[in-house]
Amino acid sequence: MRLQLPKRLPDVSFSIIKTAESKTLEAFFYSGGSWTTARVGAHSAILVRHPLGAFLFDTGLGNNVDEQFQENMPFWLKPFMAYQKFGSAQVLLAEEVKKNPIRTIILSHLHWDHASGINDFPDAEVWTTRQEYDWAMGPGAPEGRYIQSQFSGKEVKWRFIQFEQVPYENFEQSLDVFRDGSVVLVPLPGHAPGAIGMFVNLRSGKRLFAAGDTTWTLEGFQLPAHKFWISSLLVDHDKRETEQAILKVRRLMQEYPQMLIVPTHDEKAQGNIGFFPRFFR
Ligand SMILES: [Zn+2]
Repeated sequence: MRLQLPKRLPDVSFSIIKTAESKTLEAFFYSGGSWTTARVGAHSAILVRHPLGAFLFDTGLGNNVDEQFQENMPFWLKPFMAYQKFGSAQVLLAEEVKKNPIRTIILSHLHWDHASGINDFPDAEVWTTRQEYDWAMGPGAPEGRYIQSQFSGKEVKWRFIQFEQVPYENFEQSLDVFRDGSVVLVPLPGHAPGAIGMFVNLRSGKRLFAAGDTTWTLEGFQLPAHKFWISSLLVDHDKRETEQAILKVRRLMQEYPQMLIVPTHDEKAQGNIGFFPRFFR
């Protein structure tokens, strides 16, 4: 059954903020990718402007990423995780936030490349799931994925996302953030235990689904395919659950071919939509 979007949606817009990128072979991004074609990965955040307040979905790489990376990334992982910076969301959005302050950061999950900029927005409330928080703060949080100093400070204003038993598209639970149908969060565990995805429904009828790191590229949903097996071993929490998440997003794509599906690191898919300062409404 196709979802009926509310007739009156608020004036919401979004923009993709590319904070950094990394270049490697396509084969490392998804299983079946080319070993001869270079592919760019992006470290992006999504800025959503809503009449009730602007928020970031993920932070990309923050102001202190170099120190965070140098001090916490195991040496053998450094070459895999290397990046070139463009600027943190805080720097790139300096003018924008004067008009529309960031009140909230919603994280797809707490991996280092998504949580890096939390401390750049000290006034923002930080949303994640309890499950993701407990795992990320606990002794079992895998090195190279989580950097606890990014979010262990007492000053971080946490809010735990409470999903409701309200089905949304092909998800059993959801949270309608503003209660107006414009921004809807859904559980998307697999890559990380408490990972989430986000729908943004615009007045124009355009729709976005931010898929976090379930796959790194759209091809992962199209084929479908996991990340390259070594990449998956390094970063995915639960491969079976990740596969279920991939298939869920794939079904969504088939149902809504016009929907803009955005994996956090797919520079090509994001470039086709356009980067900040371009806004989608
Ligand atoms: Zn990531």
